[in-house]
Amino acid sequence: MRAVRTVICTACGWASWAVTREYAERAVEGFNAVNDGANDEWREAYGRRASLDSYVCMQCGGAAFRPETPEDRIADGVTLKAVICDDLADNLEER
Ligand SMILES: [Zn+2]
Repeated sequence: MRAVRTVICTACGWASWAVTREYAERAVEGFNAVNDGANDEWREAYGRRASLDSYVCMQCGGAAFRPETPEDRIADGVTLKAVICDDLADNLEER
């Protein structure tokens, strides 16, 4: 299993995990395919279609990232949001 690559927003310091644009596109397409075929109850729970626009810093909306360093002290196992960062992302295997 590959380790998740943690990256740091250069604007605000928030930690996220890096995915490639290709990976994000597959995730968005997969979610939207389910959403479009779902019943009203499911849509009420999950709301709206996914978008690549959401793959930015959750804290400030920034889209520039640097690799995590030990000084950042990001705890293992914390929940991190996925962001598109082709330069720093590992190629995650499709599940
Ligand atoms: Zn940020």
